[in-house]
Amino acid sequence: MTLPAKFAERVLRDLGDSEGAALCAALDTEPPVSVRLNPAKCGGPENGGAGREEDADKAAGRSDGVQPAVLADADGRVPWCGDGYYLAARPQFTFDSDFHAGAYYVQEAASQFVGHLLQGVEVAGRRILDLCAAPGGKTTLYASLAGPDGLVVANEIDRRRAQVLADNVRKWGTGNVAVTTCEARQLGGFEAWFDVVAVDAPCSGEGMFRKDRDARGEWSEGNVKLCAARQDELLREAWRALKPGGVLIYSTCTFNRDEDEGALERMLGWAEDEAAQAGEVAVDASWGIVCGRVGAFRTFRFYPHRARGEGFFAAVVRKAFDAGGRCRTPKARRTVFASVDRAAAAELRRWVNSPERMCFATVADTCYGYYVAQAEAVKVLAEALPVIYSGVAMGQLFKGRLRPDPALAFFCGLNRDAVPAAELDEEQTLRFLRRQEIGAGPFAEGINLVCARGRALGFAKRIGNRVNNMYPNSLRIIKQ
Ligand code: SAM
Repeated sequence: MTLPAKFAERVLRDLGDSEGAALCAALDTEPPVSVRLNPAKCGGPENGGAGREEDADKAAGRSDGVQPAVLADADGRVPWCGDGYYLAARPQFTFDSDFHAGAYYVQEAASQFVGHLLQGVEVAGRRILDLCAAPGGKTTLYASLAGPDGLVVANEIDRRRAQVLADNVRKWGTGNVAVTTCEARQLGGFEAWFDVVAVDAPCSGEGMFRKDRDARGEWSEGNVKLCAARQDELLREAWRALKPGGVLIYSTCTFNRDEDEGALERMLGWAEDEAAQAGEVAVDASWGIVCGRVGAFRTFRFYPHRARGEGFFAAVVRKAFDAGGRCRTPKARRTVFASVDRAAAAELRRWVNSPERMCFATVADTCYGYYVAQAEAVKVLAEALPVIYSGVAMGQLFKGRLRPDPALAFFCGLNRDAVPAAELDEEQTLRFLRRQEIGAGPFAEGINLVCARGRALGFAKRIGNRVNNMYPNSLRIIKQ
């Protein structure tokens, strides 16, 4: 499908004939493929392997695990993201066990820039709101930055997409994310509560015209207007939720000025007095990013004919320290968590690396684990909003013993000594991920942690010669 005529006209008009033509031509080339590694599941000095603080590593479950196999085909680093790599070709991610183990996230390179915007900002141990979060590319990035003492609240209005987000959060395994599915207005009700608020706004998607050809058919001038109105609303709620001194990140995957700089200008119309510049953001000229300013906002544009990534727009601003607004949370509407007794807590503690940093609670009949630092914050959220996943689902207790939840296998803070590990070969791994039968050979009697290339994928229970595959149906590979 060709580019929408009105889009092409506008681009030539706005950027000039030669630059506009270069952009349109780039939209017809092959997009680069890139991934971002999970620092808690991939070792090596570049991913925090050197000079790390031991306790924090232990809590976050940092591993010195082998690098993901896909990196054998790496084609350079993403210059603005320490964990980002380009790949020379698109592998079959579906058949890669490292992908299923949450060792990396397949994320478009330009999008990884939001982490760079937070380089000078203290985010470890802080509360981050990702207002438009599914499927979770940026959520997983923020979760790695926030660390075990921080909390990422990842919201997605669309319930089906929120489930995909929750699956990706489970696989990433940081245990510091709460997934909500509600209107932005409900999160705005947590006034001045977050240290960082990110709005990765739904947009007209012009930057995706190369990667996703359907985006061309969905584009219209009318849709641009609708998106712009929705972005204004999202920015209003985001600002309300942000603490004085906190940082707002706004991003879209469109080139459209009305949805990018225009949205910021409209916002400054009512928030200019409270907006202050965020710290410097170092950008090397060789990266090809077009830097600009809108009032106190610093802005960054990615064009595919200049930078190695898809079309992307990002902006950052600080809420002034003396901006008004008192921290307020909505009233609790329900009780969600029940406490666990001492015996249950002792059993649960056995399964984690840093029991002293965790606490446990039950929701319905499932036990969850939370890092102590943010446990109260998660409780406050869950009592007021629809939280569909939070912390780490540990599993259910039967006669005092834990039947582990699949999410616990992905958890970076899992105590590997709590359970025997069965290392599968490539063929057995695919059978496991398809929920097919596997021979009892590699398994010890009882519950086993199922691993491939040393990385945990789930659990299986051996009873004599039978193996019960506990991999969740919702994650099962269907593709042949
Ligand atoms: N941040 C995501 C990532 O990095 O993977 C991509 C987010 S996508 C650009 C925008 C998301 O916002 C979509 O999943 C869409 O369903 C959601 N959305 C649309 N309207 C929304 C609203 N009013 N509040 C919250 N999310 C909304």
